[in-house]
Amino acid sequence: MIQIYGAGIAGTYLYHLLSSEGLKVAIYDRRSEPDCRCAWGTVYGEAKNFYSEIGINFDDYVILKPEFVVANGIWLKNRDIVIFDKKRLLSDLWVEMSKAEKPDIVVDATGVARAYLPKIESDRVLPAVQTVEKHDVEPNLYIQMERTGYAWAFPLADGWWHIGAGNIEKGEIERLLSELRAKYGFSSTKPACNCFGKVRMLPPSRCRPFISGNVVGVGEAIGCVSGAGEGNAPALASARILADCLLNSELENYEHRILKELEWVENEQKFVDAMLQNNYLTALKLLPKIIAVESRRTVQHSLTEIRKLIGL
Ligand SMILES: Cc1cc2nc3c(=O)[nH]c(=O)nc-3n(C[C@H](O)[C@H](O)[C@H](O)COP(=O)(O)OP(=O)(O)OC[C@H]3O[C@@H](n4cnc5c(N)ncnc54)[C@H](O)[C@@H]3O)c2cc1C
Repeated sequence: MIQIYGAGIAGTYLYHLLSSEGLKVAIYDRRSEPDCRCAWGTVYGEAKNFYSEIGINFDDYVILKPEFVVANGIWLKNRDIVIFDKKRLLSDLWVEMSKAEKPDIVVDATGVARAYLPKIESDRVLPAVQTVEKHDVEPNLYIQMERTGYAWAFPLADGWWHIGAGNIEKGEIERLLSELRAKYGFSSTKPACNCFGKVRMLPPSRCRPFISGNVVGVGEAIGCVSGAGEGNAPALASARILADCLLNSELENYEHRILKELEWVENEQKFVDAMLQNNYLTALKLLPKIIAVESRRTVQHSLTEIRKLIGL
């Protein structure tokens, strides 16, 4: 019997992958329903492929595909980022929550909480705030970034937007948000709702152990979040790898496969780390690898544009 804790992106996907193969699986989340609040951006091709494996047509959840990603005033052509209705997708994957008596394996899919694996030494989580607001702005992705964090405006349907910011230095969040508002014309307005969140910003290699006793981690619990704070597609990728390892009784390969197949996440987080330490030489060395991956997945950009963007 496998017990999954956490019915977010990684946990729900893993549950359906394993149960469709006939494994006995239980899933439990501390919430009574899926979280609605944030993280509605993802890479279309990756999500489409992963979800097709559990019979989900991801197109049914796509809200829109913005034409441009505008970062610090630089207009980049969007390659494959879409906004999807995460709440509806997670609701459709939600099953009856239950706790098994004596599970053989416990999966820690609790995201940033990492509630079942041992705590990470020198963990680094980025505090973030987000609101839902109505604005009359062309529906692109707008970003204002700096060394320690960034602010974003992501379009939803019917003129609604997710407006948010995260920064290692919590006190800087409001300033970053004001800069984003001023730069792209998102005037301060009464939000329909607001929330606080956290994103783990560490290379996966620094989130070990991935396995401790009979507990195995997946998704953000083991640091599968890109350098841009993008955790949906990496959570799905890590759950796919874990499902393979469980189905083939090859858990001993799990750590190696995560570090190899999500090496791009490791590189991006090492880049963030280097920038935070003012280690610009290391950051510069990592940049071509990051651009090679991201110009295929997310936005079309050149080395010159990216160097201008991050001031290197
Ligand atoms: C403000 C904000 C904006 C973001 N925007 C984006 C975005 O646009 N695109 C993107 O790709 N990523 C984004 N992210 C990151 C993304 O949300 C996460 O990386 C991703 O959801 C991780 O998936 P997961 O399944 O590992 O964890 P989660 O999706 O966080 O799921 C964890 C689940 O575990 C449950 N849980 C927690 N503790 C326990 C416990 N003790 N017992 C049982 N259940 C528990 C939680 O209720 C939750 O349902 C954003 C994050 C934040 C904070």
